[in-house]
Formats: sequence, structure tokens, C-alpha cells
Amino acid sequence: MSGTDGVSSNGNAPMVHDVVVVGAGFAGMYSLHKLRGLGFDVAVVERADGVGGTWYWNRYPGARCDVESMQYSYSFDPELEQEWEWSERYSGQPEILRYANHVADRYDLRRDIHFETTVERVDWDDDARHWHLQTDRGLYRARFVVMATGCLSTTNMPNFEGAETFAGPTYHTGNWPHEGVDFSGLSVGVIGTGSSAVQAIPVIAAECQELTVFQRTPNYSVPARNEPLDPGEQARWKSNYREMRAKMLEQNAAMVQRLPDGEELAKEADAAEFYDRMQQRWDVGGFTFYRAYSDIALDAESNDRVAQFVRDKIGEVVDDPDVAAKLTPHNTIACKRPCLDTNYYETFNLPHVQLVDVSDTPIERISQAGVVVDGREYPVDAIVYATGFDAMTGTLLRMNITGRGGMRLADHWDAGPRTYLGLGVAGFPNMFTVSGPGSPSVLTNMIPSIEQHVDWISRCLVELRERGTATIEPEPDAEAYWVDYVNAVADLTLYPTCNSWYLGANIPGKTRVFMPLPGFPPYVEVCEDVASDNYRGFALA
Ligand code: NAP
Repeated sequence: MSGTDGVSSNGNAPMVHDVVVVGAGFAGMYSLHKLRGLGFDVAVVERADGVGGTWYWNRYPGARCDVESMQYSYSFDPELEQEWEWSERYSGQPEILRYANHVADRYDLRRDIHFETTVERVDWDDDARHWHLQTDRGLYRARFVVMATGCLSTTNMPNFEGAETFAGPTYHTGNWPHEGVDFSGLSVGVIGTGSSAVQAIPVIAAECQELTVFQRTPNYSVPARNEPLDPGEQARWKSNYREMRAKMLEQNAAMVQRLPDGEELAKEADAAEFYDRMQQRWDVGGFTFYRAYSDIALDAESNDRVAQFVRDKIGEVVDDPDVAAKLTPHNTIACKRPCLDTNYYETFNLPHVQLVDVSDTPIERISQAGVVVDGREYPVDAIVYATGFDAMTGTLLRMNITGRGGMRLADHWDAGPRTYLGLGVAGFPNMFTVSGPGSPSVLTNMIPSIEQHVDWISRCLVELRERGTATIEPEPDAEAYWVDYVNAVADLTLYPTCNSWYLGANIPGKTRVFMPLPGFPPYVEVCEDVASDNYRGFALA
């Protein structure tokens, strides 16, 4: 089942493949490599002109991975693990993109990736039992589709009145110009203070003449403590990679921390012990801070104690008490995605950096000369939107997917995304979502999560092929059970207590449902169990 049926990609006859994968980021690249190796005819469609997904688009100044380099990489090939050299504790975007390109070359992936191809609609044909994917480069037909579309791939651009009248350039962190931007001598406005802004602000501040940051909600940030990667540390990982990878998979977030997880309750620790432990983790840097006690994400009192530690740090670091007060969050810590930084709070001590609080008085409009808040115009030469993404569902819904009987995914997900295991959707046969809503995805180190999903999907496709099974799709009851289960697990935590993109709360009008599932190891166990039990909860035909 391969080839083009003798008709060019611009003609009417479809290009036919066993599997069409949408997206050539880390999920799409591994899907192609794995499925091709298993004998499937696979095509990947990708709207960009290169591989890398997130790391292709997010080229903003300071873009860097919050997961340490030795853990943010593929594990599927020990030779790849050994040959690639990382240079920093946390890799910057250019290095990760080089790695993605290296992988594409090493496994000859590009010959099956159709770049600059945007999917416009995806329709299931019930009679023929295959999918049609209409793209701007022609029609594809495939028995299976794998949506490797990423969790943070549709940017959120606020609809500010007058935005089109602004005289200078505007940028979004998630769609940054490839040639880079020179901010020297300019007055720059940054809108947003999430993870992207927390990384970008210190770097832009170092370059520009004036920086004005428009903050709607202050964020907690912990020092990353990035540094050149110690060659000894890299060698230790490489000589022990199998054991370390196995250890990663035993962790809730699929990554090993520099310090062991604390087993005690934060609220029960005595003051000196609490301070020493938090300070040690503050000094070590990274997400190990959030693993100091076992109940930080579960108990409001413990959470607030940890939050207060960070609030106190902000007060110590930031010179101007008014600015420090504005930068100090009062919501639950880590219920929004935690930020890691390099000199974020310190940047607000610089004389050319000002903070504008837009929590009570939202940005009113964009004028020709700048940003208007509460009747006052803040003149800027360029605006950086660090305003995030329509996370987890935005890209899937944008593709106009229809399943059995012409059912629209947008209608099926009207009250929030519904999946079984975050892998499939009832009424949408033979469609798999890699790190889809309802799977641990964004609460984990993404690459191990991606590998687990792609391995599961690959095993499934091989077993279907061996049995001569034409279709697989979640049973509605299994899907309903899973949606309830994800909500029940999330409700055991403090995650749903603030307005995060995990809940869809950052997009006006989006239904609020907690989308990812906390806890990687138990999830993997369920997936294995379901597959071994003849794909329990899936209808096979
Ligand atoms: P984000 O966390 O959603 O932050 C968006 C920011 O824009 C928030 O401060 C938000 O304020 C603000 N905002 C949105 N609309 C606004 C409006 N109309 N007016 C004023 N402010 C507005 O997006 P992000 O920073 O791009 O990060 C998204 C996710 O990407 C992260 O959480 C993380 O998972 C991932 N990421 C990872 C890394 C890494 O690994 N290093 C780096 C960057 C991003 P509110 O908080 O009030 O909504």
C-alpha cells in the first residue's frame, strides 16, 4: 500500500500510505523511525520546513529546556545516546534543534517527511475504513493516523483592540523569526510572565535599551542553575544509561532529580529543618525543589509553606519593595507549570526594566506607539507576546477532524477533551494521539512519555496486522470511565486550584477541564495491562 497511485500530490488522487503521522517533532520523528522499522509504509506531514516541532518554532532569546540534557533525549538507540555530546546542564534551543536534525539525518527520516504541508481536514471513511487527510499540498489516504502534533503548538495571540495599528514589529515567543531579532537600542514591551517570558526577559533586557514587562499574574520561579555540563557527569550517565533510563521511568515526572524525593510532610517539618532543606534545593536548582516533601502538590498548608519560601526569596532579591510585591504570587505553587530561570527576579533591579501590573486593569488596547493600560500609553518600539498556547487541544481541533458518521471532534470535545488513555477517541477509529489529553504528557519529561506512547501504538499496529484486524477504537464506556478517572486523580491534587493552561483557563471561552493525568508509572502500567488484556476498552473489528 504505497506510492502515489500515479497522480501528483497536487492532483485529485490521494497519496496512499499505511500510516500518516502528523508532525515532525520528537513524537513524529520517533513514530516514523519505529513504524518504518516494523515494515509499515509511513508518511509524515509537517507544516514547517524542518524537523524539531517545539524546538523549531520556539527560538526566542533564552529558550532552553527545563529538563536536564542527559534526560531530555531519546533512549531508543544506545549508539545515539553514546555519540551525542551535550554541552550544558540544560540545553538551549539551538542545541536541541541540532540534535533533532542529527536524528533526522542519522535515521534517514527526511525522505518520508513531507515538509511545508499543512493539514486542513481529516475525515474517516466508514465504508472504506480509512482516513482522508486533506492538506494544502494534496490529499493523503491512510488506514491509520498518528497525531504527533505536540501539546503546545498552537500559539495564543490575545485579541487586543488596535493591535494591527502598532507601528513596530510584533513577535510571539512560539513563532520566532529564524533569522533572530536584534533588540539593541530599542524599547521593548513583553506581554506575559510564564515560562517563556521568564527565560526571555533577562536575555532581552541584556540587549535592549528599555524593557517594559506587562504582567497579569505573577509566577513562582526557581533558579535553574544552568552551567556547562561537567564531562565527568556526562561520562557517568553514558556508562550507566540503561539503569538511569529505567530509574527515570519509575518517577512521576519521568525524570531523575539531583536530590532524593523527600518522604516527609512539609507542614510537619520544624522551621530550621524546613529552611535548610528548601535552601539546599534552591541552591542545587531545578525541579528537585518541588520534590523536597511528599505533599507539596497535595496539601494546601504544606504548599503554602513552600510558596512562602519563594515569596521570601523574591523579597530578598528584588530591591524595590513595590516591584517585589507585584512580582510576588499568592496562588498555589506549582499548580501552574513551575518556571525555572536564570536571573529572572534580578532583572527587575535593572534601571531600564519596568514592571506594569495588568491584573486589575487589563491591557486596554495597543496603540500605534505602544501598549495602553488604564489610560496610560507605554511607548515601545517592538512587542513580544509571550502569551502561551491553546494547549493540548488547539492543534487537534484546528485540523477539522471528523470521525464515524461525520461526527466532528470539536463537537465530541465540546465539554472538554475526551480520550481513552490519552491514546484514542471513541468514534475516531484508527486515530492515535501521542501525548494526548488524558495522558501524563506535559506533567512529565516529554521524550520518555513520547517514546512510551509510540512504542504502545507500534505494538498495537503490529498486533492488528498479525491478526488481520482492520480497526481499533475506544469503547464509549471506556472513554467515559477514563475521563472520570483523570478528573478524580487531578482532584486529589492541588493542580485544579488555579487558572492554568492545564485547565484551558488561559483561552477565553475554552471549557475548563484538567487535561493531563498526574503520575507516569501507574499510567504506564495501565497501558501495558490494557494491551496485554486484548486491548481492553477498545473495540477491535
Ligand atoms: P504561559 O505559561 O501560558 O504564559 C503566558 C503568559 O501570558 C502568562 O503570564 C499569561 O498571564 C500571559 N497572558 C496571556 N494572555 C494575556 C493577556 N490577554 N493579557 C496579559 N497577559 C496575558 O505560556 P508560556 O510561557 O509560553 O509557557 C507555556 C508552556 O510551555 C510552559 O508552561 C511550559 O510547559 C512550556 N515551556 C517550557 C519551557 C522549558 O522547558 N524551558 C520554556 C517555555 C515554555 P496569566 O498567567 O494571567 O494567564
